[in-house]
Amino acid sequence: MTRLARLLPLLCLLPLATAAATETTIERDGVTLVYRDATDALDAGMRERIVETFFSTYARQRADFNPAAANAVDIVIDPDYDGVAFVDNKGQATMTINPAWLVERPGDVDLVTHEAMHIVQAYPGYGDGAPVWLTEGIADYARDRYGLDNAASGWALPEAVADDHRYDTGYRVSGAFLKWADTAHPGLVRKLDAALRAGAYTPETWAALTGETVEATWARYAQARTGGQKGP
Ligand SMILES: [Zn+2]
Repeated sequence: MTRLARLLPLLCLLPLATAAATETTIERDGVTLVYRDATDALDAGMRERIVETFFSTYARQRADFNPAAANAVDIVIDPDYDGVAFVDNKGQATMTINPAWLVERPGDVDLVTHEAMHIVQAYPGYGDGAPVWLTEGIADYARDRYGLDNAASGWALPEAVADDHRYDTGYRVSGAFLKWADTAHPGLVRKLDAALRAGAYTPETWAALTGETVEATWARYAQARTGGQKGP
């Protein structure tokens, strides 16, 4: 038996011996957060940034949009989840994060701001009653407005409108459109959010709040952006 062959069984045991788990409960401003990382996939520095981003942005989003939103939230770091992050609002409000995403893109911690807005939204149906473009557009509108350091990952709402962009493209494209439309109709996003939470949103809701169809608002927005104007 070579020396290496004798060492191999020992080396294989080491990862088991060093496996660790973090579970910590933090309470701030009436909100209780349980942070769970069963395999310590993220280091203490990233954990602190996630916790700070959550408390700072969730408190402001909750106060502005839905003070009745959950006052107990779990953040779960899950290496088996292969998306970026998601929120489950059924029962205990839970934000699941793929640690590999943040290890590769440590500047992108404001994804927590986007997910925290989903907890505030607490809409009754994702894509079923609450349109996906509005749910995700409002979450990216909120990431832009409340995020702590979006610049660290080069994240920003688009200034330009591409040919294949539509009002319902979702995420940043819809977020930029909502930000522009909210300037023209102050309180629009807050009212859309309330209608969505009440399960009362229809295309007529947009028309009632703005005096025109969403397609007409988008056409004015696209015209203004391609024409180089900044304001509505
Ligand atoms: Zn989302």
